[in-house]
Amino acid sequence: MNSTTLVPEPRRKPILKQEIAFLLIHLTPLLAIFTGATLFDWIMCAFFYFVRMFWITGGYHRYFAHKSYKTSRWFQFVIAFMAQTSAQKGALWWAAHHRHHHRYSDTPADPHSMKIYGFWYSHVGWIVGPDFKETDYKTIGDYAKYPELVWLNKYHLVPPVILALVIMALGGVVDGGSITAMFSTVGFSALFIGFFLSTVITYHGTFSINSIMHKFGKQRYQTGDESKNSIWLALLTLGEGWHNNHHYYEVASRQGFFWWEIDITYYILRSFQAVGLIWELKGVPDHIKFSKDKKHAQELKKQYDMQRPPIASNES
Ligand SMILES: [Zn+2]
Ligand SMILES: [Zn+2]
Repeated sequence: MNSTTLVPEPRRKPILKQEIAFLLIHLTPLLAIFTGATLFDWIMCAFFYFVRMFWITGGYHRYFAHKSYKTSRWFQFVIAFMAQTSAQKGALWWAAHHRHHHRYSDTPADPHSMKIYGFWYSHVGWIVGPDFKETDYKTIGDYAKYPELVWLNKYHLVPPVILALVIMALGGVVDGGSITAMFSTVGFSALFIGFFLSTVITYHGTFSINSIMHKFGKQRYQTGDESKNSIWLALLTLGEGWHNNHHYYEVASRQGFFWWEIDITYYILRSFQAVGLIWELKGVPDHIKFSKDKKHAQELKKQYDMQRPPIASNES
């Protein structure tokens, strides 16, 4: 892929009428000016940022987009439901677009290449534009065969609406002393800060991987795209900041390849594995970890295979 072939595809501008909801989600937290906000609202805002960020990276991303571990059918539904509480549309929609991103990374067909379409488009333009609204069920056929996932993908607002009500109820109980207080000021302040502000911050945490992580940071592996690694983004997004590692070897359940590369999502996935909720977490083979590019990885693999006693050679 040389740069002369990188002619951007025509991408349509957002239609304001279609994006009212997205705009309102961003503006709703401002209503807290009228209700005020309690300490508990702020705690929920932070808590539900981290909870939902985990399900985005461990669910939408590492499970549905990349199949980096296995689980049961019921827990798969739980994963999709919890990921969708982030209001980032259906798990099938999310994962199908993400598979396109890897397939065409930083080429014109990439839905959100910063290199080709610029910062704002890669951050949020592709989300609000009309070009990527539909789910490409063919690309995600391995999960689209489950009717419960297709249902959830279609009614993608069910999980966030339930979470919003739960947050209002928690605000009512903790700050108002009863569940019926959820429909009073304390319930609404919980909704504005604990749900809406948290949702907006979670949006931009996720979006930053598509924009910032294809521009700023270090590139350990030659992946042929602009993906980078950053400890700061990895901390903020629970491991997604090891984005160059991830583009190099996308099927791994861990994105921090070395012990010092903090990857909180991976630690949580390991704990899920320990209690039997998920299994067969895919690791990173040494020849991948210690190589510079795919050619070098093949050379290392040959070397390691020769050094290794035959009995251990089937280890991945
Ligand atoms: Zn990427
Ligand atoms: Zn990915």
